[in-house]
Amino acid sequence: MKFPLSLHLDMTLYLVGNALRGIQRFPMVLMLEPTHRCNLHCTGCGRIREYRDTLGQELTLQECLDSVEQCPAPVVTITGGEPLLYGQVGALVKEVLRRRRHIYLCTNGVLLEKSLDLFKPSPRFTFNVHLDGPREIHDAIIGTPGTFDKAMEGIRAAKRFGFRVTTNTTIYRETEPQRLELLFHILTKEGVDGFLIAPAYHYDTVKDGIFMTREEIVGKFRQLEPLFRKYRIISTPPYLEFLRGRRKMLCTPWGNPTRNPAGWKSPCYLITDTHYSSFQDLMERTPWERFVRGEDSRCRHCMMHCGFEPTVVRELGHSLLDLWRMILWNVR
Ligand code: SF4
Ligand code: SF4
Repeated sequence: MKFPLSLHLDMTLYLVGNALRGIQRFPMVLMLEPTHRCNLHCTGCGRIREYRDTLGQELTLQECLDSVEQCPAPVVTITGGEPLLYGQVGALVKEVLRRRRHIYLCTNGVLLEKSLDLFKPSPRFTFNVHLDGPREIHDAIIGTPGTFDKAMEGIRAAKRFGFRVTTNTTIYRETEPQRLELLFHILTKEGVDGFLIAPAYHYDTVKDGIFMTREEIVGKFRQLEPLFRKYRIISTPPYLEFLRGRRKMLCTPWGNPTRNPAGWKSPCYLITDTHYSSFQDLMERTPWERFVRGEDSRCRHCMMHCGFEPTVVRELGHSLLDLWRMILWNVR
């Protein structure tokens, strides 16, 4: 299965529960950023630029757990910055698992091997390693030689100890299908459990030239289509259809709410108008509709998974055909 059965069941129960209670807007994945500190300085990273003045601030363990209590999403993505630099990361993972949530811990992989003894393998816990291509491409995008090899050492060690490992690859204008295929080939041989892919978001704070317009994204993902059948891509089929221009979708900006040291980020993971002090304020005070319909100029070229994968989940009940395809896709 592409996702563990327990995640599948928990998400289904959660969706049915919200539907029965008539709740229209609910979170699916909490994006928890305990720290924005990072040991790398990637070309396309908006976080280390947007929060450069507050890099020294961190959420306490208690603040992280309060955020998990406030936000009922079945999945918690622990990200950053580099979350393995967060001093309480072992305790945080343990406590979130104790609350029966599923965790994706997003890391650049550099510290992965030496951090493994902080964690225990669990079907509810997955390392998600950021890799943008095979060695020379990844290291060039990151801007630091040796990072690909370090991440691969971490992945091998994590697999050896029985952890679930997925990867996350950002697709840029220059991403070539052959290089991406080489990356997936290498990762498949290492036993990686699945590959997430998404186009880069055009952050204002990041230099131009590497990001794509919507039209370019559609063209690029059509080129990549043969890889979707050949490799264990865990981005959902409806989302991949959207990326190839074969399906229209509205955004679900509340689907992946973001909590970081500045507060609850509004309106979405990518753009910031303000930070609220509580999850309830975020949900009640954000003017969602203009973002759903992409009326804000910052949404114009966005096709990011944080906005559109929640739409896939939200719309599952609307089409029995889609539901059946998703079940088949998950068990293959
Ligand atoms: S590893 Fe992640 S957080 Fe760190 S600079 Fe790169 S993209 Fe940003
Ligand atoms: S379209 Fe993108 S930028 Fe706009 S609200 Fe949705 S996720 Fe955010």
